[in-house]
Amino acid sequence: MKRSPQNKEDLKDLAAKLDEQRNIIDAIDADILQLIDRRLLAAQEIGRIKKRQHARVLDNQRELRIFQKLFGLSEHTRLSKTALYKIFSAIISASRVIQKPASEASADPREAEIYAVLGHPVAHSLSPVMHSAAFSATGYDGVYLAVNVPDIGVALSGLKALNFKGASITIPHKIAVMEFIDEIDAQAEKIQAVNTVKNNDGRLFGCNTDCFGAISALSEKTVIKDKEVTMLGAGGAARAIGFGIRAAGGRLTIVNRSPQKGSQLAGDLDADFRPLAEVNKLDCHILINATSVGMFPDNDHVPLPQKFLDKKMVVMDIVYNPLKTKLLKWAETIGCATVDGVSMFVHQGAKQFEFWTGRKAPVEIMKMTVLAALEERG
Ligand code: NAP
Repeated sequence: MKRSPQNKEDLKDLAAKLDEQRNIIDAIDADILQLIDRRLLAAQEIGRIKKRQHARVLDNQRELRIFQKLFGLSEHTRLSKTALYKIFSAIISASRVIQKPASEASADPREAEIYAVLGHPVAHSLSPVMHSAAFSATGYDGVYLAVNVPDIGVALSGLKALNFKGASITIPHKIAVMEFIDEIDAQAEKIQAVNTVKNNDGRLFGCNTDCFGAISALSEKTVIKDKEVTMLGAGGAARAIGFGIRAAGGRLTIVNRSPQKGSQLAGDLDADFRPLAEVNKLDCHILINATSVGMFPDNDHVPLPQKFLDKKMVVMDIVYNPLKTKLLKWAETIGCATVDGVSMFVHQGAKQFEFWTGRKAPVEIMKMTVLAALEERG
């Protein structure tokens, strides 16, 4: 199609505007590079001063404080916390290299404490990136692996033989693992599932951090005591969460596809059971999806009809891939407060980290790492 002279003028003008913005970006990039260079110089100088003081050069606590400060500042920018975390992780690791604390060389894998997530399958587990980031951020000399184990009993014998210090236990082993553990904490015993194992010189301790993770994530958005809670699902995760809801004083109704499993769990938790067909008759302040409905690749699926949602509800989905499930998108659209599955995942992981290492978990770093990994997976 032939363009009019007017259009040609417009196109020229647009091309000039594009060049102008590109020049601005080139100039900013050059400035950023200079600023990074100045930052590296300062880091190098700090390294020299600390060596003269005979002090340790690497300071994980200082790195954590830098991230906390940056997360605060990022609220006034267009940069997401995840993007900021990726950028500054790279800059901080360049600073570490330039400080070259030879005597503080990074963990020798032969000396490091070894941990793993044991499941079947485990290829997509986000636990390795999350715990590796926590180890590195706190200076803990640990290595974390993902191990695909069809037989959890054999795997735990191997864990002891190889002197692994601990493990996360995931699908399908959370219940079966219990018979191979020497001591199980009271809460995990009540939930009847273990997702965390600690190896104390050949003696295995088990606990359940899913319950803590879910209740911590939900408590960031709402009080649970005396609230009407509707939970969809009656599987392993629902069991742990339901226990936490009851312990926190919530009134619980379970809704599940298989009525038999649903009423069994409701009986165990002193809760009510309703079939999905009756869900619209429920009074509900907090709605929790603890089924796998909506999980990748079934992103378009939702566990209940949209008309059930009300803007006064707090809606939690424990599915974390995708981060924003269709249920959470619906809930956000009508103005509900929402809690995503990553919050629960990170809080349960933070509790595992503290159980294993005795150190305070770098929760925000763990969350940023998981969000960045999810973003990379698309
Ligand atoms: P599970 O023990 O296998 O239980 C699955 C539950 O989902 C059951 O209640 C099952 O109902 C229900 N369900 C499955 N497909 C369904 C469908 N098409 N329609 C209706 N209900 C359906 O699994 P789980 O260990 O509890 O895990 C459940 C989900 O939570 C998974 O997506 C898992 O990745 C996620 N999770 C997240 C975290 C976190 O930290 N965010 C932690 C643990 C688990 P029936 O009883 O009728 O089969």
